[in-house]
Amino acid sequence: MLTIPFNRPSAGQREIDYVTECLHGPKHAGDGPFTKRCHEAFGALGLGRVLLTTSCTDALEMAALLLDIGPGDEVILPSFTFVSSANAFALRGATLRFADSAADNPNISPDAIEALVTPRTKAIVVVHYAGVACDMDRIGEIATRYGIAIVEDAAQAIDSFHRGRPLGTIGDIGAMSFHETKNLSAGEGGLILIRNPAMFRRAEIIREKGTNRSAFFRGEVDKYGWVEVGSSFLPSDILAAYLLAQIERLNGIQDRRRAIWNRYERALAGPLLRYGIATATLPDWATNNAHMFYLVCADLSQRQRLVDGLRATGIIAASHYISLHSSPFFHRFHDGRALPHSDRFTDTVLRLPLFVDLTDAEVDTVCNRIADILAA
Ligand SMILES: *Cc1c(COP(=O)(O)O)cnc(C)c1O
Repeated sequence: MLTIPFNRPSAGQREIDYVTECLHGPKHAGDGPFTKRCHEAFGALGLGRVLLTTSCTDALEMAALLLDIGPGDEVILPSFTFVSSANAFALRGATLRFADSAADNPNISPDAIEALVTPRTKAIVVVHYAGVACDMDRIGEIATRYGIAIVEDAAQAIDSFHRGRPLGTIGDIGAMSFHETKNLSAGEGGLILIRNPAMFRRAEIIREKGTNRSAFFRGEVDKYGWVEVGSSFLPSDILAAYLLAQIERLNGIQDRRRAIWNRYERALAGPLLRYGIATATLPDWATNNAHMFYLVCADLSQRQRLVDGLRATGIIAASHYISLHSSPFFHRFHDGRALPHSDRFTDTVLRLPLFVDLTDAEVDTVCNRIADILAA
């Protein structure tokens, strides 16, 4: 039977060559030559001060440490997101205040943020869902007005912009992911982006087990020691070798992903309206990095019909997050507010296969099958 997976990682000859070069070289641990080249390559993309991390999850945990989040601090974040956006702050003992999504897309609603601000609010975490920028003008204005830090969970947002600025560089701290399901992959991997130079210095320390090892290797101190709390957040140079090849392929990867996205859009956006199914729309401040092509189904049963019907012919489409405020772990801590948009996206978002080696014929097969299921 034909099978079209939801995602398939793609490593080319250059990934193999760089990893081989690293393995034959003298440095396999973190912060070797390939890590340095990744940092430079991301700098050249306009991402500013960055450090590779083992995952976006770890970059978010670093963010919580860098902002000195602790018990009594409140953090506002969307409910419709991946657990890592929340865990990083829960681990530090913060009180999580989940905000609803906007009505017309899964990103956090600025009005919902504003309603949750208290004197204890220390950070707002925004998640650029599907790589589409949140309303950073309004959110930035709220953060400035109340003196609150912004953390951007830009896990899905490489090569995407808000009014020309790369996502991840707008808030105080940004976090990206190179998990194999993202546009750029290192298998597992991440990046922390930091605006403030002093905070960047601290990030180097926290990432290196709380030591000033990075400064030592630059010759700035003559021995290194334990200067604050930290952990091991740096990936092996072997992973950086894989990632460097991916960064160098970014334009090709993005051209192909956008072509797939546009092919889905052309085939589905108009025809599915009559079934009450919407596709993503782009606010005028945002760009599309083709991280994800998703449908917003009319209801849960229609989505289930599509998931089952596609699966029956070997096509894997995926629902997405379960609202964190009603999750098995968190629901007993939630303050009881209804978050209707988050719950609606929990029930209705359906993500279609999208990966760089997906063929046009496969895209057409997915679209035709969706049309058949809905017409049946
Ligand atoms: C993928 C993802 C993460 C986690 O990334 P890892 O690199 O797997 O830790 C966090 N937040 C969002 C929004 C994601 O999509």
